[in-house]
Amino acid sequence: MLGVYIHIPFCQKKCRYCDFPSYGGVSYFFSNYVKALCREIVYAAGAGETVDTIYLGGGTPSLLTARQVESILCAVRNHFSVNSSAEITIEANPNNITDTYIQDLRSIGVNRFSLGVQSFSDEQLQRLGRMHTAEEGKHAVMTIWEGGISNISADLMFGLPGQSVADVYTDLRILTQLPITHASIYSLIVEDHTLLWDDIRHQRVFLPDEREEEAMAALVHENMAAEGFEHYEISSYCLPGFRSRHNSKYWQYSPYLGFGVSAHSFYQNKRFANIANIPEYIHKAGVSSVVETSVSIESRRAAEDYCILALRMCDGIDYEKFHILFSTTVETEFGDIIERLFAQQLLVPTPSGCRLSKLGFSYGNYVFEQFIRD
Ligand code: SF4
Repeated sequence: MLGVYIHIPFCQKKCRYCDFPSYGGVSYFFSNYVKALCREIVYAAGAGETVDTIYLGGGTPSLLTARQVESILCAVRNHFSVNSSAEITIEANPNNITDTYIQDLRSIGVNRFSLGVQSFSDEQLQRLGRMHTAEEGKHAVMTIWEGGISNISADLMFGLPGQSVADVYTDLRILTQLPITHASIYSLIVEDHTLLWDDIRHQRVFLPDEREEEAMAALVHENMAAEGFEHYEISSYCLPGFRSRHNSKYWQYSPYLGFGVSAHSFYQNKRFANIANIPEYIHKAGVSSVVETSVSIESRRAAEDYCILALRMCDGIDYEKFHILFSTTVETEFGDIIERLFAQQLLVPTPSGCRLSKLGFSYGNYVFEQFIRD
């Protein structure tokens, strides 16, 4: 079954660490952008295919009105066959959450929230340039839950400027006392040319050192496990039965179609990406192609991609699935690499193949690189 991703590239204001394709202060685009999205969906490939996940990501999709979200979901429902039990997620920022908004989104079928909480320290939130307070983060989770949407994911970051291991512990205690089913917990990556990068370069703020960051990562794993959360993907934790079905598609090499500026798709063994320019997108959507790049994945590359994505998850590489997908065996393609990673204790065997070891989770990027053959 197909996943549908809708990219909403708007934010109230750009956060200091963010290099995602999103733009602040352009609310005058909202209405025409939503119309363009609906036109793009109507002309998309895959008409009539069954869709079991829809994910509105960004940016900040919760800046759209419930009516605008409804028109996007209607376009998806009219063009595809949306499963009655489809997971329909919207990413939201805490300061956009009200009782009425939750009720309105719920009534049009939204059944999962991904909330950008990021930290429960007001000092940190200010440093990151977030538009909400710690109290608003907690309140937003409760409002969504009391509004009848019980599948709630929260994003949290660690390794923040000036943050201590004790601060991370405090954040985790608060997070796990809230009624969430899922958490995406990331270590901050400072992207070049962001405002935060500039703060660090000019020594206005200081990051924790490597040892502190390792201790923070260990604390996250221990605390989430102790609270009953399964660590099912490098940065993702969930209560039993609450894995993100949409994001799992990315890691399980399943097809998805992305709509909107800069949206990516993986469909019929091709990866394609849309144009990034909003006015150009609005002008072209539904009239001519908005795809900027399209690449057919040759089978050697596809096998590498599958292994790298599968290893992000605790399930790891499934040898039988690999054989079905690529008509060759994992042993033939990657046998020597996997043996070496077993010897280095970075991979461990599973009943259906292999996965990252506990140590391997800390050296994920090194392990993934081993699967890329020249
Ligand atoms: S809300 Fe999210 S997408 Fe928007 S600027 Fe902040 S981090 Fe980036």
